[in-house]
Amino acid sequence: MSDMEFSIPVELPLDADGFIRRECPHCEQQFKWHSGPANAEAELQPAQESYYCPLCGQPAGRDSWWTREQLDYAEEVAAPTVREAMDAEVDKIFRGLKSPNIKVNRSGALDAPDPPSPLTEPNDMVIVTSPCHAWEPIKVPEGGGGPLHCLVCGAAFTLG
Ligand SMILES: [Zn+2]
Ligand SMILES: [Zn+2]
Repeated sequence: MSDMEFSIPVELPLDADGFIRRECPHCEQQFKWHSGPANAEAELQPAQESYYCPLCGQPAGRDSWWTREQLDYAEEVAAPTVREAMDAEVDKIFRGLKSPNIKVNRSGALDAPDPPSPLTEPNDMVIVTSPCHAWEPIKVPEGGGGPLHCLVCGAAFTLG
């Protein structure tokens, strides 16, 4: 399968403040983090391998925070490319089969569906910063009562 590896760039929308929606793999609640460094101090920080959920405090790897909608969207965006690649593989196989004694009838490639309409990101939730890692702002749903957790280190804090 190694010759079928390919990567497909999928653009996900940011809200007006530059935040991207995230979903915790543990508690399945949504929040947002800033896409890229939010400020000069953040630019100096090393890239993190994992982050802590601001809502339940559980850590997960940096690629574990896709929302259901983002995964569905990525799948839709990727599907035509995957189908083309598989089609090319099937062609190769059929080409290998052709000989004077074998007649291969292969119907046309599957119809490609229209590309999905892009996701949109409403400018909801409120921006908060943790006291310990204030250079990494997050957005959490409005009116959440309990303590929050620092995205960077997991330390609990309450909004003053
Ligand atoms: Zn969580
Ligand atoms: Zn912290």
